[in-house]
Amino acid sequence: MNFDDSAEEASFRAAAGSWLSANKFDYRTSRTSENFFDAVRKWQLLKHEGGWGCLHWPKEYGGQDAAPIQTLIFAQEEQAAGMAMLSVANTITIGMAAATIMHCGNSQQKQRHLPRIARGEEVWCQLFSEPAAGSDLAGIKTRAVRDGDDWVINGQKVWTSYAQYSDYGILVARSDPSAAKHKGLTFFLVDMKSPGLEVRPIKQASGGSDFNEVYFDNVRIPDSNRVGEEGDGWRVSLTTLMNERAAVANIFPTDFEQVWNLARETPLNEGMAIEDSAVRSLLADWHVWSRGLKNFGMRLQSDMSQGKVPGPEASICKLMLGAQRQTYLSEALDLMDFGGPALSNSGDAGWHFAYLRVIANRIEGGSDEILRNIIGERVLGLPSEPRVDKNTPFNAIPTAL
Ligand SMILES: Cc1cc2nc3c(=O)[nH]c(=O)nc-3n(C[C@H](O)[C@H](O)[C@H](O)COP(=O)(O)OP(=O)(O)OC[C@H]3O[C@@H](n4cnc5c(N)ncnc54)[C@H](O)[C@@H]3O)c2cc1C
Repeated sequence: MNFDDSAEEASFRAAAGSWLSANKFDYRTSRTSENFFDAVRKWQLLKHEGGWGCLHWPKEYGGQDAAPIQTLIFAQEEQAAGMAMLSVANTITIGMAAATIMHCGNSQQKQRHLPRIARGEEVWCQLFSEPAAGSDLAGIKTRAVRDGDDWVINGQKVWTSYAQYSDYGILVARSDPSAAKHKGLTFFLVDMKSPGLEVRPIKQASGGSDFNEVYFDNVRIPDSNRVGEEGDGWRVSLTTLMNERAAVANIFPTDFEQVWNLARETPLNEGMAIEDSAVRSLLADWHVWSRGLKNFGMRLQSDMSQGKVPGPEASICKLMLGAQRQTYLSEALDLMDFGGPALSNSGDAGWHFAYLRVIANRIEGGSDEILRNIIGERVLGLPSEPRVDKNTPFNAIPTAL
């Protein structure tokens, strides 16, 4: 089988590569998150103006109607040009919020937001998780009460990544506490500058504040910002979650090339690590995994580019990637130790940061256990885990009080 680019793909790749070298800029000099998000917006606008933004979207919303393979080629070239980080930071905006609006929004919502997202004018956050409802998202307590043409929101969200830099958020709230937990939810688009909405950044051990608490105190949302019908919030949220799993699975590199290069550069015994049979066996194993994951990711990406909502299979990709990446990053750190102090103290904090960050990969967008449940029930058709509160009115569940 020939995996080389076709002539047409090669010329698309060359055009993408030359546009990227002419337009890339150094965003690493100003790494405070605020400036970083200025860079995220600037990069999105540059891509849009150059005809490379939101490639797989329809032209009417600011995309290019590009073929799935072109989206993939551009992403590969963007990675090679060192600019992928800026697009990864925009994943909640494009891969989740915009994807949900595209699938479930009405035409006025699409016209209002998608072109602005395409131009980098709007950054979005995801207001789903709450202190007592993460995996069990249908257990959220934030209330939405209809008042004339508005909804009034009260409650608290947590873990909201990048809320402090966001213009809008996708919000799921409980509109009918007397309905069963999955049936009393409604989905909204909320302006993050709304009166009564307060964002409180959470200080992380790393010193940064990637996520936040968000408080709603009588925040008013016009009914025109409701996505789907009243009480249809669970279905709309599932669209976001399926896109999230696929997007998260696709944005994290498998690290194979980096581990390979590390093995080539690391002295071990009398030679280099790559000559050691145990290391070679690990590399072979990792190569098989990373190639399989890459192909699986391409399949998901091509489904999404054709407008399909990723199915529960996306959970397989995310589950395998998180666990395998953690193993191999740990082995990479061991290799650096074999290389002695010169290598392990070489100042390359990237490996250490990646190893610490990969733990979050196994929680965000669905924890490993939840993904196993989804794969068991919805891919393999195994019996469901008991959900005793499924058909109980939410306000009759003891923990809902
Ligand atoms: C880096 C990061 C960024 C995030 N960003 C956002 C964001 O922007 N917006 C947002 O809304 N959320 C965000 N989240 C929240 C994330 O979606 C939740 O952390 C996740 O869904 C798990 O929920 P929880 O933290 O409440 O843990 P819990 O649901 O309390 O789970 C605790 C443990 O119990 C296990 N468990 C729970 N239920 C079951 C079950 N039925 N069967 C087996 N095991 C189970 C879990 O696997 C886990 O190990 C982010 C999380 C992280 C780590």
